[in-house]
Amino acid sequence: MKIIVSKFGGSSMKDHEAMLRSAAISKRQNSFITLVSATYGTTDQLHLLIDYAVSQKWDECEKLLFKIKENHLNILSNLTDDHKTAQNLRELLNNLETLTKGVFLIGECSLKIKDRVVSFGERLSSLLYTEAMKMTWPEKEITLIDSRNVLKTDSTFGKGAPLVSEIKKQCNATFDKSGKIAYVGQGYIGSDMNGSTTTLGRGGSDYSAALFAEGVSADVLEIWTDVAGIATTDPRIVANASPINEISYDEAGEMAQYGAKILHPTTLVPAMREKIPVFVGSSYESDEKGTWIHQEVKEKPLIRAITKRSNQALLTVRTPKMLDAFGFMSRIFNIFTKHKISVDCITTSEISVAVSVDQSTLDHKELIDELSQIGSVATETGLSLVSLIGNQMLHTPGLGKRLFTSIEEVNTRMVCFGASPYNLNLLVKDEDSNLAISNLHKEFIG
Ligand code: ADP
Ligand code: ASP
Ligand code: MG
Repeated sequence: MKIIVSKFGGSSMKDHEAMLRSAAISKRQNSFITLVSATYGTTDQLHLLIDYAVSQKWDECEKLLFKIKENHLNILSNLTDDHKTAQNLRELLNNLETLTKGVFLIGECSLKIKDRVVSFGERLSSLLYTEAMKMTWPEKEITLIDSRNVLKTDSTFGKGAPLVSEIKKQCNATFDKSGKIAYVGQGYIGSDMNGSTTTLGRGGSDYSAALFAEGVSADVLEIWTDVAGIATTDPRIVANASPINEISYDEAGEMAQYGAKILHPTTLVPAMREKIPVFVGSSYESDEKGTWIHQEVKEKPLIRAITKRSNQALLTVRTPKMLDAFGFMSRIFNIFTKHKISVDCITTSEISVAVSVDQSTLDHKELIDELSQIGSVATETGLSLVSLIGNQMLHTPGLGKRLFTSIEEVNTRMVCFGASPYNLNLLVKDEDSNLAISNLHKEFIG
């Protein structure tokens, strides 16, 4: 039996029709494990619910809880009249309400409790999806698992780091590979070694699926979403972005890292470790070609795709003391490491270091204070990182001329190039970023 792990995102769980459409794909593909995201928009609603509870807006909490309840009960009524499932769903919804009340009464919410609240999204959707699977695939035994028992992580709430060997152990103990059973589980959620619920960070269901695929040594990992595969850029920015049929792990990994929302940034890491081919396709048009991600690909164009990461800031530390000073860089980066801040792009001159970071990093007062002890700190916000993803960029004469001519009306605040053969990054103003992407797309991809 070919072992296939499939993941369906929020838009594929939008309503009962989307669930049934997705279940038909699970059946057609003979998926061994299907992981699902929360129903469309629910994770956002759960985050909002926490905000309302913390800021003492109980009326708003009630309205939102009602919406969440209505939405899930409505899907249920269109799928089944099974009494036990209805009872389980109501119990989950009641537990969510009780937990929200607790947050409201205490008036604060730790990251640990936040993870517990947001985990309800996937726990609710997977219960409903199991019913869709049972309806669609009656000849198969459908088993709902609690992914928290399998996807073990450390205790970094909000962004748990997976414990790979522990996950493998749990996969071996949980899944019967005889082919009798098709499993349904939740993306995004896990638990630490004390059993407390954790999550993998926003968009983390892709990563969950890759970790499960690694855990069961799957033959294929499938990511089903609302577009027919990975395109040369975000189709919302360039309407004629074209689908990519085949792409390497390296290139797709860079795309995810530099903002292509279609894949969570770390999804490909487990797949690469086990050399599992990854397919990305649309659950709405499942007959479309989609994208295959492999170790080796036939075609390696100079520029394959362009991505964008918004809400970036440029942080510059400047000190005359850097002249001939050893250890300046390491002192700066030790501070970033201490505060667990990841830096994307770096440029240095003799007396300054500039790094691009997520804009939210600037809220980190301690980080800025500590950097200020080394030198004067300047910040610029409202920037976007535009990345060209491709091959052989380090060894192609004339690339720079074509690039800068195509975006001559755009001011480039920083350029990062030289470390990786797969990408070239430009930091530009947010308001110029779509123009830059369109022009670059026209010049390099057509
Ligand atoms: P899901 O809920 O299924 O995980 P996401 O919204 O996280 O779906 O990711 C799919 C979206 O990613 C698409 O609707 C598209 O707007 C966006 N996207 C960004 N960059 C790309 C790209 N290069 N190719 C295709 N889609 C992209
Ligand atoms: N439901 C989670 C989110 O919206 C995880 C995911 O969909 O990948 O972030
Ligand atoms: Mg996603």
